[in-house]
Amino acid sequence: MKEIRNYKLLINGHWVNSTSNESISRVSPATSQIIANYASGTNEDVNLAVIAARNTFDHGLWPRMSGTERSRILRKLAQRMKDEINYLAEIEAEEVGKPIRLARGDINGSIGLVEYAASLAEQLHGESYNNIGQKYLGMVVREPVGVVALITPWNFPALIFCQKMAFALAAGCTVVVKPSEFTSGTTLEISRMAEEAGVPKGVINVVTGYGTTVGQPLIDHPLLDKISFTGSTATGKKVMEAAAKNVKRVSLELGGKSANIVFADADLEDAIDGALFGVYFNQGECCCATTRLLLEERIADQFINELIKRVKQLKVGHPLKEGVDIGTMIHKDHMNKVLSDIETGKNEGARLLCGGNRILGSEYENGCFIEPAIFDQVTPEMHIFQEEIFGPVLSITRFTTTDEAIAIANKTRYGLANAVWTKNIDKAMKVSRELKSGTVWVNTVIDGPPQLPFGGYKASGFGREMGKVGLEEFTETKSIVIHLEKRIPFYTTVE
Ligand code: NDP
Repeated sequence: MKEIRNYKLLINGHWVNSTSNESISRVSPATSQIIANYASGTNEDVNLAVIAARNTFDHGLWPRMSGTERSRILRKLAQRMKDEINYLAEIEAEEVGKPIRLARGDINGSIGLVEYAASLAEQLHGESYNNIGQKYLGMVVREPVGVVALITPWNFPALIFCQKMAFALAAGCTVVVKPSEFTSGTTLEISRMAEEAGVPKGVINVVTGYGTTVGQPLIDHPLLDKISFTGSTATGKKVMEAAAKNVKRVSLELGGKSANIVFADADLEDAIDGALFGVYFNQGECCCATTRLLLEERIADQFINELIKRVKQLKVGHPLKEGVDIGTMIHKDHMNKVLSDIETGKNEGARLLCGGNRILGSEYENGCFIEPAIFDQVTPEMHIFQEEIFGPVLSITRFTTTDEAIAIANKTRYGLANAVWTKNIDKAMKVSRELKSGTVWVNTVIDGPPQLPFGGYKASGFGREMGKVGLEEFTETKSIVIHLEKRIPFYTTVE
């Protein structure tokens, strides 16, 4: 049997027990055996962590270093992650329940994010205005926003942590991190590596624990300057309420219900692979999963037949087994929620074409495995069309015209991402322009380098991560107006 990993909190550069002295056990979603114990943080731990981050920001070296020095340290962090890539990937696969192949991809992607943020640390600069008259010089400078709370979900713990932490650090901020209590392992390990790489004490603080006992006191804390949150829309609303109390800055990456629009003139081989990847990647536990497949009527039957054939070949299994395509749901409650959504789909009249059952017996018996499901004849009024299922469930809706496809795709409260498959550039651009989402993929899906910003329209949140703007989200903009030469008096009557 593998060794159980035991973790403490990271506050002001020290690994400490929680003041509760209690821990939270993470059981493997594949086997139900304990794989890790996390300290159950408290209000008091949060307070100590925020004070440490505040002092480090107000008096410490990190915000005052040159961008080049910060960049050098972030690059060392990326190297440390490369040195332990297999270890990190195993933790990620075990805790999330995602196939090891995907977990390796996630850690590689996380390293790429740290490297890109490191390059931005050197490039961050403002503007100068030398063209506003002889007597003026204007400067726009960028300053780190301050102490930032980073709250992350369980589906991509390392990627989302690096998507926030590396950019916040590149800008010169200090952070207090609250990862999901199901998947805190890689956040703590990468924070350890950051200290080994030279990130000073107090710059990264991690308080593990529950949303109610750690998350809520964190977002309520008056010494924070900003909250960067990724998670559900319901919790995102609580974050906004907390931020409103003392006008903290806030950025929210929330849920999604992305459409994958396939036109008859697409490369259908590519589109089928994209349709599978778009929904079953990470077991469907992906905010930008393309869970709504919109098919042009005249190719729909042929496309669906091929899709079913291919879905049946996907291997559901233990996340650490090589060759597995789909792992387990994050935990039993979530699995039951996904199964209940599937029942709702059947009851509201959608046609279940395949899958949708819990898998039991032999290696599956103690896990949270679900057969990948496909529903046809899904209409925009249905729950399964509108609500995030966050599991391996695809909903198919058919269309006949381009305008109809756009209208159907936009008929949700979410606006995180959408995809379109066509070889016609005019059609691709019309659809890309009219879709209400922060990202549109053309002839690809769940794709894109760290240079491109990611974030939502509508109920999918606001603010952007990655790209240059992802760094700017962690800065304040200050204008400095300099008057040169002798001032012409305004009050000429005064002697
Ligand atoms: P939640 O919103 O439940 O949780 C997100 C994080 O917030 C967790 O760490 C959670 O802790 C914490 N939290 C819960 N309650 C509070 C609170 N009152 N105050 C502060 N923090 C709190 O989402 P999940 O972790 O369940 O993740 C799945 C959801 O996240 C999906 O809906 C998905 O769409 C969305 N998501 C969005 C992404 C995006 O980029 N837009 C990316 C990934 C996921 P705890 O776990 O203890 O409840």
